[in-house]
Amino acid sequence: MAHNRFKHGSGVYQCAVCQRRTRATVESCDDVGYCGPCYDLAGLQNSMWDDGQEDWIVKARDGLLAKIIRGKGNEQAVRSHFSALFTTPIPEAQ
Ligand SMILES: [Zn+2]
Repeated sequence: MAHNRFKHGSGVYQCAVCQRRTRATVESCDDVGYCGPCYDLAGLQNSMWDDGQEDWIVKARDGLLAKIIRGKGNEQAVRSHFSALFTTPIPEAQ
C-alpha cells in the first residue's frame, strides 16, 4: 500500500458514456461508471421523463454537453446514450 504514490481513494476510470478518463470523486458516480457531467445528464433525463423538456433542463443539458466536449469526451456517444434527452421535441410523458 505504501508503494502507491497516487492519492488514496481516487481511482481513475473511464466514463461509461463519454469515455473520458475521470476520477471517482462522487460515490454514486463510481457506482454507475459515469463521470460527473454524464451522471448529471442521467439525472436530467429522469427529470425530463417526469416533467417534460423544461427550459432549465435544456440549458443544463447544453452546459453539461459543452463541458464534456471541452474535456474531449465523445459527443456522439453522449448524444446516443441520452438519446431521449437530446431528442426534440420530446414526446408527451406517459
Ligand atoms: Zn462521461
